[in-house]
Amino acid sequence: MTDQTKYTLSENDMPKQWYNVNADMPVAPAPILNPQTQEPVTPDFLSVLFPMELIMQEVSTDQYIDIPEEIQEIYKLYRPTPLMRARRLEKLLDTPAHIYYKYEGVSPAGSHKPNTAIAQAFYNKAEGTKAIVTETGAGQWGSALSMACKMFDMPLEVYMVNISYQQKPYRRIFMETFGADVYASPSNRTQFGKSLLAEDPNHSGSLGIAISEAVEVAATSGGEKKYSLGSVLGHVLTHQSIIGEEAIKQMDLAGEYPDVVIGCIGGGSNFAGIAYPFLRENIRNGQKTRLLAVEPQATPSLTKGKYAFDYGDSAKMAPIVKMHTLGHSFVPAPIHAGGLRYHGMSPSICALYDAGYIEAISVPQLSTFEAAIQFAQSEGILPAPESAHAIRAAIDEALDAKVKGEKRVIVFNLSGHGHFDLSAYEAYLAGSLQDYEYPEEKINAALADLPQVSLEPA
Ligand SMILES: *Cc1c(COP(=O)(O)O)cnc(C)c1O
Repeated sequence: MTDQTKYTLSENDMPKQWYNVNADMPVAPAPILNPQTQEPVTPDFLSVLFPMELIMQEVSTDQYIDIPEEIQEIYKLYRPTPLMRARRLEKLLDTPAHIYYKYEGVSPAGSHKPNTAIAQAFYNKAEGTKAIVTETGAGQWGSALSMACKMFDMPLEVYMVNISYQQKPYRRIFMETFGADVYASPSNRTQFGKSLLAEDPNHSGSLGIAISEAVEVAATSGGEKKYSLGSVLGHVLTHQSIIGEEAIKQMDLAGEYPDVVIGCIGGGSNFAGIAYPFLRENIRNGQKTRLLAVEPQATPSLTKGKYAFDYGDSAKMAPIVKMHTLGHSFVPAPIHAGGLRYHGMSPSICALYDAGYIEAISVPQLSTFEAAIQFAQSEGILPAPESAHAIRAAIDEALDAKVKGEKRVIVFNLSGHGHFDLSAYEAYLAGSLQDYEYPEEKINAALADLPQVSLEPA
């Protein structure tokens, strides 16, 4: 062990392959279903939405996938990212635990999302896609993809949840600076959007609706435009594995190995990014690291959702997957961690959670911001409200270790900074932020609306 604070890798030490968890899955996730036929999807169906290379990665069982050099070159703008020892936070908590965090906020867009945005823009460009269409909630995914698309001269259309479009003009301006066309969703550019606006011209929108609009635009473009998703799908999780692969090397430099690895969880990509390489070590090399996913109490998909087949979007156009879901019609409370408000969850994470390979907890909004402030004031980084969920859990682990007198080694993923989320901090500091009860009735109502899928996996 050393007394270093920052563990950095040289560019040459940057991993040259992504890790694909499909190779090591101890439990098979259920097949992805066509939303119309409810039969397993065919590559033909998916190829309307995605370039072939990403479809192949989705179903690949190769343990490693080479990162093309063009992608490595752009990764080098911000990778390898640092692994930090949170010494000042440890001191503040007076804990025997060692706390490390992997900091993805150093990317140009301020979060882990460019790790897959760059890859997706690259593969689309390579296969001749004319434009990419996507949705964004709070704006982080749209920001990452607009930056990535500009680097490959790829036009981008973004459907941004209306309420965020109104409340977060800076995110929209960020995307427009990189040349993206940003539309408030629901919009009058799609059939689905028009139908919703006819009912309510001031519809506040939701992530599920914005996904439907983006999917509709891609599906009706005659093959010119492809759709891109920033989380949930297997290929997205694979691209994020570079976080954990770097972290393993950096923990090696620190001379320690984690007892617990923590990530916040919305669709699952930053959590899987840091956790899956450690899962591989658990499965293949007998390590015993606990893998802990942290979600908001207001959108508790893993801890309270039903493990069932459900649509990925509101208009039932996106594929049906088996996941822990709150129901595709569930509209979450307006918590500030916008990136954690999706109704579902990545299928591989759900299968692993169901089989006991992953732990999950949910935490309330107020104590999450308390943790964010403690972290900011000791470590100097103002975290994204999403990432603050991981901080809350890391602090609780460190306090538990203190009570038990254990030297626990804790690693968490700091998925992004919160420089675009200052209105959330303003509300917290003014005392106007609130907790939301677990929305049991709303979830039960939405769960009544799940598709009746007869096919059950063997
Ligand atoms: C989007 C986002 C998340 C949530 O998405 P996952 O796919 O679950 O990682 C978490 N943190 C930040 C900073 C984000 O931008």
